Amino acid sequence: MPAITSLFDALLNAYGPQRWWPGETRDEIIIGAVLTQNTNWGNVERAIDNLKREGLCSLAALRHVEQERLAALIHSSGYYNQKAERLRLLASNLGDLASMSTAAARKRLLAQKGVGPETADSILLYALGRPVFVIDAYTRRIGARLGLQPEADTYSGWQRLFVSALPADVSLFNEYHALLVRHGKHTCRPTPRCEGCCLSTVCKGATL
Ligand code: SF4
Repeated sequence: MPAITSLFDALLNAYGPQRWWPGETRDEIIIGAVLTQNTNWGNVERAIDNLKREGLCSLAALRHVEQERLAALIHSSGYYNQKAERLRLLASNLGDLASMSTAAARKRLLAQKGVGPETADSILLYALGRPVFVIDAYTRRIGARLGLQPEADTYSGWQRLFVSALPADVSLFNEYHALLVRHGKHTCRPTPRCEGCCLSTVCKGATL
């Protein structure tokens, strides 16, 4: 079982810096974090391109757009009616997150319809530059296979495991999450490609 810090080093060495999150503005990152729920990034990109073309890729603009029009523009991201409703609500209710403490901003985000811990923490880290470690399905799958043992197999349990071992550094948290996603998509897939994996010598679940 690798230490949390050496796991990062091994992934960085294998894949290089990922330089996430794709998005030109804070609002675009927030919108992308909602649209990416239950779909892949390619579908999100098409939706965001549509919003940009129509001058709607900002929370201020989304406050006034009709729901049907918005749903049509983000159709490619799936669950488009639900996401259109959530984006409009978010645009109206989020408030000025940047002026809030991290704890207050997280609380405000989690109070929004359809925003769970992963989406909230992605927004805090990537849109607001707060040192919040994002946990997702890739992290939990890779961590479990490696033999990492959080106090509890929950979102906050996994988050505590990483946060307690790392300095609260935005760039580090940013890269670490991006590298875990890269590893989970390309190597530690549902059926893992252990041969050639950069972690195979330290992985409890390696199938070689
Ligand atoms: S060795 Fe296999 S199970 Fe372990 S991290 Fe690599 S791909 Fe995943």
